[in-house]
Amino acid sequence: MKPRLSQPIASLLLRRVFKWVILCIVLFSSLQAYLNYRAIERNFDMTIRDVANTHLPMLSLAIWDIELQAIQKQISLLTKNTNIAYVVIKASTGQQFVGGNGGNARADEHLTFDIPAPDGKGSRIGTMELMVDRSVLRQELMRSFLIVLTEVILLSVFIFAAVYTILRRDLERPMRQLADFVNNLQANKIATRLELDLGPRHVYNEIDLVVDGFRTMQDRLQKHIEHQDALVSERTVQLQQAMDRLKKLSITDVLTGCYNRLFFHERMPGEMHRAIRYERDLSVVFCDIDYFKSVNDQHGHGVGDDVLIAFVESLQRELRAEIDWLVRYGGEEFLIVLPETPLPAAIEAAERMRVNVERDLKVTLPDGQRLNVTASFGVAERVADDTIETLVQRADQCLYLSKSLGRNQIQPASGSTSQEVDTL
Ligand code: GH3
Ligand code: MG
Ligand code: MG
Repeated sequence: MKPRLSQPIASLLLRRVFKWVILCIVLFSSLQAYLNYRAIERNFDMTIRDVANTHLPMLSLAIWDIELQAIQKQISLLTKNTNIAYVVIKASTGQQFVGGNGGNARADEHLTFDIPAPDGKGSRIGTMELMVDRSVLRQELMRSFLIVLTEVILLSVFIFAAVYTILRRDLERPMRQLADFVNNLQANKIATRLELDLGPRHVYNEIDLVVDGFRTMQDRLQKHIEHQDALVSERTVQLQQAMDRLKKLSITDVLTGCYNRLFFHERMPGEMHRAIRYERDLSVVFCDIDYFKSVNDQHGHGVGDDVLIAFVESLQRELRAEIDWLVRYGGEEFLIVLPETPLPAAIEAAERMRVNVERDLKVTLPDGQRLNVTASFGVAERVADDTIETLVQRADQCLYLSKSLGRNQIQPASGSTSQEVDTL
């Protein structure tokens, strides 16, 4: 399941920036509004003074000539100006003329102007008081402030939208692609190339640095894995060779190099099973060197060992490669297993071995003399209901018989007689 983000990076960045931008917008619009206000106010004052200065000569003449209608006309012209709420003309004679909506108008400020005499001597013939209505000024100010604010807000929204889109496209989307790729990367496909969909107008930036870094890491990992794989393969081969050597050692008799009894227990059940299942012949030959103890006693253990080695070599010459097999069953007792071999053939083979031993076994004593050795044999063929133990036991009994009948001979188990052997 994909983890839920508490906040996408684009929103986070915008939020962080937003506070400051809003503050700046407020400050900026306030400053702009204040400057506008000052400009409008200056403008306003100048307008009022212009208006006043325009009407003062006419008023001066009207008061001088005491033309009431002209004075009223000037007052009504003045009050038509929306910025002037109320006009009071006070003549030096004590007469007072009033115009405008003095009661309702919000008069923010009184401006008093002297009305000079038209003779140009500088004497004053009255005053003109203007009650200025600044509501128009305030409206203008508010309008200007709102325009500035709207402009700034619209600009900010546009900039925010643009920045958000750019952040999403150039930062958030590649980051997500990168995260998805890394999440779905299988350990056995570490070399899968990282490709981000960055759009046609993408330029090389920090995202590419991350991508390049990741690819470099992939390459190194891949090389490391390959190296490890090669190492594992090499070690596996070495281990297999060591295991094969160990296995061979564990089933080999150290002195003679033939199989040991462990191998017999390992292989013999298979031989028996096959012979029973496919009703094939299976014979075993038990053999034992005659008077071997006296060899040791008379010539020493070293010579005894040499005899054992030579004895095995002699027996092996009669074995069929990959079919028959020889086991050192005890000290100088050996068992030969002959698959696919009926009793007569097994007897023949045993007899050849016996002759070989008697005639060809060559062990030369330290004094140069040749030592003659003989061996006795017991042969048995598998019969129905035989187990490994009963089969071996019958061969052993035959060997015992050979020994008791004078040694250097073979004796077959029942089903064959010593007579047959003698005729060989
Ligand atoms: P038999 O004709 O009745 O078989 O008499 P034997 O002397 O051959 O039989 P016995 O069982 O009395 O003696 C077997 C001897 O084989 C006793 C033992 O010291 C010797 N032997 C067993 N293993 C080894 C070996 O690995 N090396 C040597 N040199 N002698 C061994
Ligand atoms: Mg013996
Ligand atoms: Mg023995």
